[in-house]
Amino acid sequence: MWWMRHDRMWTTRDLKGQYDVVIVGAGVHGLATAYYLAKHGITNVAVLDKGYLGGGASGRNTAIIRSNYRTPEGVTFYDESVKLYERMSVELGYNVFFSQQGHLSISHTESGISGLRVRAEVNKLMGVDSRVIDADEIKALVPSIDISKRQRYPILAALYHPPGGIIRHDAVVWAYAREADRMGISIFPFTEAVGIGTSNGRVTSVQTNRGTIQTGTVVNATAGWCSTVSKLVGLKLPVITHPLQAFVTEPLTPFLDHVIVSATLHVYVSQTDRGELVIGSEIDPYSSYSTRSTLPFLESTAAHTLELFPSLRHVRVLRQWAGSCDMTPDYSPIMGEVPQLKGFILDVGWGTYGFKAGPVAGKRIAELIATGKTPKILEPFSITRFSEDRLVGEKAAAAVSH
Ligand SMILES: Cc1cc2nc3c(=O)[nH]c(=O)nc-3n(C[C@H](O)[C@H](O)[C@H](O)COP(=O)(O)OP(=O)(O)OC[C@H]3O[C@@H](n4cnc5c(N)ncnc54)[C@H](O)[C@@H]3O)c2cc1C
Repeated sequence: MWWMRHDRMWTTRDLKGQYDVVIVGAGVHGLATAYYLAKHGITNVAVLDKGYLGGGASGRNTAIIRSNYRTPEGVTFYDESVKLYERMSVELGYNVFFSQQGHLSISHTESGISGLRVRAEVNKLMGVDSRVIDADEIKALVPSIDISKRQRYPILAALYHPPGGIIRHDAVVWAYAREADRMGISIFPFTEAVGIGTSNGRVTSVQTNRGTIQTGTVVNATAGWCSTVSKLVGLKLPVITHPLQAFVTEPLTPFLDHVIVSATLHVYVSQTDRGELVIGSEIDPYSSYSTRSTLPFLESTAAHTLELFPSLRHVRVLRQWAGSCDMTPDYSPIMGEVPQLKGFILDVGWGTYGFKAGPVAGKRIAELIATGKTPKILEPFSITRFSEDRLVGEKAAAAVSH
């Protein structure tokens, strides 16, 4: 009987001396890429992780999925991912608990509202469901929110994005790992890439703490650590790693069935189907690889949560944590081949917003490897945009919202 089976989610295989593709990083991006490579029939692939699967940001994020970004390039890209997430449970045969409960980006100022209007118009133009609603409509959707005028920053309006929601992030990682493994991909936890060999302008090998692998293609999918892995080939990325923290409360009776974000108050809140509130903010203001959580973050974020939901004042915090985020200057990712080094492929710069992009990035990076051509949807995000002065500015839509 299927519910009594205790199959292992992925196999332990021997590390060989040669793979066609080596993916460094077994988060959602590395594993999604592996899964889609297998769909192209490319299975002589090793996915390496220096820790356990999903131990990076993929197992630490607050799992917000949405596509209501600001630029046409960003909206098109993230929308494809939302659609892939909608089909994921069925496609991978694993319930990833995608709850499209709707996403509200709240504004407390007139200038904030104009920013939301721009996003709503870009979204609509690209076929994404988003519109600006007033405080009464917000209250109708979220009865527990305080829209009174006595607040320091009274709520005026919100960008309402019905397809947005939350997902079970561990389930996504495990589902990709299980399916990739079944399709013949080799996954190696606790295997660190410590060097990358190159010759005549192309990648030739990856040195690991368990031996050397010959390969012509390396994917850097290491998010918070991506600068350190790129440094192995002498490439300096326009990326700075910052910590990002979050916390959950004790479980409460379900009362919140929308994701609420306030950039002014630097806070966002959602409720899981277990009843816990998941609460977060923007990146810590200093660069660091530390994943220690801090009291000032907890105090300020909790205080701002109470400005939206004063009725939560007696709720207790259950746990708090941090992850590492690879921030780019324009808050957009860097994807694709590096012009000066054949076979070195970037899937990085995921900052605070990369979990939602795992499926589309994996699918399109795999397509790039399988066909040798950069898919159109990836073109705006190439590393050359920084030297060509064509940034994809998403800070207004990505900073607190993730
Ligand atoms: C608190 C928090 C909240 C967030 N909330 C959201 C959100 O709501 N929505 C959203 O879309 N995004 C969110 N994010 C961002 C999102 O989690 C990340 O952008 C995304 O998970 C990156 O996935 P990844 O697979 O690229 O990297 P990761 O999951 O970080 O995986 C990278 C892996 O690379 C491995 N690695 C590093 N160096 C090496 C090496 N030398 N050799 C081998 N392995 C190596 C690491 O061990 C790690 O497992 C949040 C992040 C945090 C920290």
